[in-house]
Amino acid sequence: MAGYDQTLRPFLWRAERLYPDRELVSRTHEGIERYTYGDYAERIRQLANALEAAGVGEGDRVGTFCWNHHRHAEVYFAAPNVGGQLHTINPLLPPKHIQYIVENAADRLIFVDPSLLEVLEDAYDAEAFENVEQFVVMGAAVPETDLESVVDYESFIGEHDGDYEWPELDEELPAGMCYTSGTTGEPKGVEYTQKMLWSHTMATLTPMGLGIDDSDVVMPVVPMFHVNAWGLPFSSTAAGAKHVYPGPAPDPADLAALIEEEGVTLTAGVPTVWLGLLEYIENNEVDLSSLERIVIGGSAAPRSVIRRFDELGVEVVHAWGMTETAPIGTVSHLKPDLEDLPKDQQYEKRTKQGLIVPGLEFKVVDDDGEEVPWNSAERSSADRSSGQSPREDGEDFGELLIRGPWVTDSYFKRPEADETDFEGSWLKTGDIVSVDRDGYVKIVDRAKDVIKSGGEWISSVELENTIMAHDAVAEATVVGVPHEKWQERPAAFVVPVDDADVDRDALEADLHETIAGEFVDWWTPDAIVFIDEVPKTATGKFDKKVLREEYADEELLADE
Ligand code: ADP
Repeated sequence: MAGYDQTLRPFLWRAERLYPDRELVSRTHEGIERYTYGDYAERIRQLANALEAAGVGEGDRVGTFCWNHHRHAEVYFAAPNVGGQLHTINPLLPPKHIQYIVENAADRLIFVDPSLLEVLEDAYDAEAFENVEQFVVMGAAVPETDLESVVDYESFIGEHDGDYEWPELDEELPAGMCYTSGTTGEPKGVEYTQKMLWSHTMATLTPMGLGIDDSDVVMPVVPMFHVNAWGLPFSSTAAGAKHVYPGPAPDPADLAALIEEEGVTLTAGVPTVWLGLLEYIENNEVDLSSLERIVIGGSAAPRSVIRRFDELGVEVVHAWGMTETAPIGTVSHLKPDLEDLPKDQQYEKRTKQGLIVPGLEFKVVDDDGEEVPWNSAERSSADRSSGQSPREDGEDFGELLIRGPWVTDSYFKRPEADETDFEGSWLKTGDIVSVDRDGYVKIVDRAKDVIKSGGEWISSVELENTIMAHDAVAEATVVGVPHEKWQERPAAFVVPVDDADVDRDALEADLHETIAGEFVDWWTPDAIVFIDEVPKTATGKFDKKVLREEYADEELLADE
């Protein structure tokens, strides 16, 4: 392209020049480590030299098998800036998916955490890992391992110079890559070009995105192997914010300590993380005074979590996105004219997935591909002319289609998906949504999770939100179980809070009563089953597939 391309390089250049002394802090297996943007940029250049010496250049993929820490953040800038591609691999995936991903991406190097080395050894398969020339262990020593060609990170970069002449890169060059968890079939690879990462970064910096600036102290709890930790290492660097990385498998006590000690202002993760932190806060003295906002996404942010953090003076920024959208697509900011609404109505809005981020476009279509209107006003006139009764605001729903500069329009090496998952430049998200008159998108369900009872749809998400709002409930999920007469009926799986005083019969009666008060009677779950833990997917979301399989037999459910 003539002129100047949109690439990641200037973000790092600016951070080093303007904020040389701002810190990056990591909790690693070696303890708390801290250094400055000055050190960060220099080590990235050393790593760039090391990558070049290892033969990594345009079109080469560099795999990472790591938690959130500064060394991982160094690969985030070095691999794409030398012209290669940062490929974050989710270590929580089953070994056969890891093999498929490494083989499909043809990774040439893999950076791996010491604590994940065994997991990688278990997944190792000579054929699938054929292209991998070297493993780099994230630390200063190589632990005992069966793998060959292993070097420790500090030695890998250590002998290299801190100066490096960055190449001029084309903005269409693939710079990143992440696979979707493959809930159906093989995982699908999504490539992020330089331009996609650049535009996603710029959008998240705006107030209508995540509004990150140089006064922020940003702690991504969302793993860096999950859609680039929602882009936070890039956007924090672009803003000149302080980075805080919580390292391997942080628990609520670790998160609380980092918030207090490092003065975290913004953190981000899936709802389960915050349910855990809330429970911890209830039983422990935690100073949250620095914390301004928590970005919650990946699954719906329960209203109770939004309310409880609001009462603690922390704003929940509810966001929606997908691997395919790099990932941020909508953010639930309150429009200025809604700020005077009573709190309850504000929470109602914030529970929705929110407003489309500037730069993207979306539409909602029904089963016939017809566009579904946004709100009752439009619908009412359409209904009147067709003789149907008007609907309530936000009640029409259909599949969300989305497009824009940071939305993919294909899957890696999957030309057949062009027909099924895309419609021209539009990505078919598989999410069923409604849009209210203010433009707030609400995920009603995933197409595969919506419960179809007697030809009508029941939203598992709405039932879950109501159940999780109960004080005695730690987690809950609702799935459709097969039913002879109704095809499917909802069953709720509930994890009570860890408290010996919870009377399960009383809780069950209470939940039935609450649900009856909020929904039409045929939405009421046929069973409420108490379980110890909701199974989770590799990305920390509720794994309904496991429960569906376990409780596929209707008789079993009736006996519970
Ligand atoms: P998968 O979970 O399929 O492996 P992703 O991590 O890309 O892949 O998840 C994307 C999906 O997660 C979205 O299509 C949507 O169904 C769900 N999701 C993401 N954010 C939210 C949210 N805030 N509320 C509800 N669902 C969400």
